[in-house]
Amino acid sequence: MTRICIICAAFSVCLLAQDADSVLINGKILTGDAAFSVQQALALRDGKIIALGSTAQVRKLAGAKARVIDLGGRTVIPGLIDSHMHAIRAASFFATETNWAGVPTLMEALDRIHESARSKNPGEWVIVGGGWKPEQFKENRLPTQAELSEAAGDHPAYVQMLYSWALMNQRGMDALNIKSDADLPRGAKLDRDANGNPTGGITGGIVALFDRLPRPTLEQQIEGTKKFFRELNRLGMTGVSDPCGNNVRPETYAAIDKVWHDRQLTVRVAYSICGFNPPHEVEEFQKYLGLMPMGFGDDMMHFNGIGEQIVWAINNVEKPNPADLERFYQIAKWAAGRGYGLTFHCGTDAAVDPILTVFERVNSEVPIKDLRWSIAHLNDASSASLRRMKALGMGWTMQDEMYFQGEETERRLGVEAVRRMPPVETAREIGVPIGAGTDAHRVMAYNPFTALQWALDGTTVGGKPLRGPEQTPSRENALRAYTQGSAWFSHDDDTRGSLEVGKLADLAVLTNDYMTVPVNQIGTLESLLTMVGGKIVYAAGPLAKWETPVRH
Ligand SMILES: [Zn+2]
Repeated sequence: MTRICIICAAFSVCLLAQDADSVLINGKILTGDAAFSVQQALALRDGKIIALGSTAQVRKLAGAKARVIDLGGRTVIPGLIDSHMHAIRAASFFATETNWAGVPTLMEALDRIHESARSKNPGEWVIVGGGWKPEQFKENRLPTQAELSEAAGDHPAYVQMLYSWALMNQRGMDALNIKSDADLPRGAKLDRDANGNPTGGITGGIVALFDRLPRPTLEQQIEGTKKFFRELNRLGMTGVSDPCGNNVRPETYAAIDKVWHDRQLTVRVAYSICGFNPPHEVEEFQKYLGLMPMGFGDDMMHFNGIGEQIVWAINNVEKPNPADLERFYQIAKWAAGRGYGLTFHCGTDAAVDPILTVFERVNSEVPIKDLRWSIAHLNDASSASLRRMKALGMGWTMQDEMYFQGEETERRLGVEAVRRMPPVETAREIGVPIGAGTDAHRVMAYNPFTALQWALDGTTVGGKPLRGPEQTPSRENALRAYTQGSAWFSHDDDTRGSLEVGKLADLAVLTNDYMTVPVNQIGTLESLLTMVGGKIVYAAGPLAKWETPVRH
């Protein structure tokens, strides 16, 4: 039927004059637009938002066959985007690893090992790959080897905490032929008790140790990818920027490529590529990215440049060797010349100084201001570094690392230092684009609502408030960082990250109101309905009937 636009009075040439294929009514829609306006209803057509307004206005736009989703007063947010999640890696292991994310007791964590062991074939490994800390458990301690052995039964078992520690049962040690420190990767050591007997714990060398474990098959990785992205959808997520990282190999991308190719991706992915073969990163990048233009892909998955490790030898190094830094400069200049994005992992402000000096040098030769380069982590960012980043047009991806590492960092650096970690408000005042996220799934857990709660209360998983009010964002700004802010880093802020006419319909209907629920309950929020480009990829509870069947 021919319509007249209710605003401009034009006939069907105007978007508003066309029928909507779906409308969401009777809600509290946090649009995340410049004014952070709240609307009651939203209409979409072909995956894009065509109108926002009152329920009465929007209902009129529904075509005869339109889905009319009554939100029952619930809150809708733009789909959450993690600007630094190792999602491709997490996804490839999700079907085979045991997940301890958010598990509240060690007893339950061990039960999960037990359940996982029962579901596996004889001899198959039970693996917890990270994303947990002992402070999350009521028992507030690490598991012992005896507990792990009992839970895993006949299976070899491996439990990793961050990149600092792992626990294996004897079957695991036997399977990897580990009898003494000499059998471990460089830098790793067996923990020993007071009598000098190994306890099953291993400290150091964890990345190389993990690489000795068997990898999931491609089929298992594909299954894991679908399951992990559905898990992210359950938590209101519709996008990630993936920074490659430890234990990722070129073949790790096979599973996500297949799921993307089969049009079964339910989270938008912008991915960066690391060097894989140090110290040959210069030749390597130039060779295998030779045919890869910036942005290659589509609106579900695209190539977003290089990082987060570029020259591995300068990873977390405060005084890099000049030759390594020169190789880093060569790659950065090459990337700038190709118009590539670049994201760089940097743990401390001291380590970022030489890196920013390289970027300033590159910028004086090939301007990088429009390339949206970024630094990840940098919890102790100084105002001076943030100003240098701003001058280079760079952004900062900020994660909830202090949620797990706060107490340890406080012991190392003191109460005053952790009060401003990370300096979210200083960065906002300086005008550095901020993307939120988690750095999941080895170092951190992936739940965006845990990260949002932490952004607002600065409290660790162990319950200790550390960050001061002067570095605490408003609810609006925390949500912005997790949506529009993160979209900036994949050059998508003009198409997603807020709910505005013309943008993609990526959104989540929440179990409770993010704006009014007590801060300490934000971590319990989930999605009741998640939409990616207008397609309902997840629905539950009272909205479960709306889920579109997925082809498998
Ligand atoms: Zn990193």
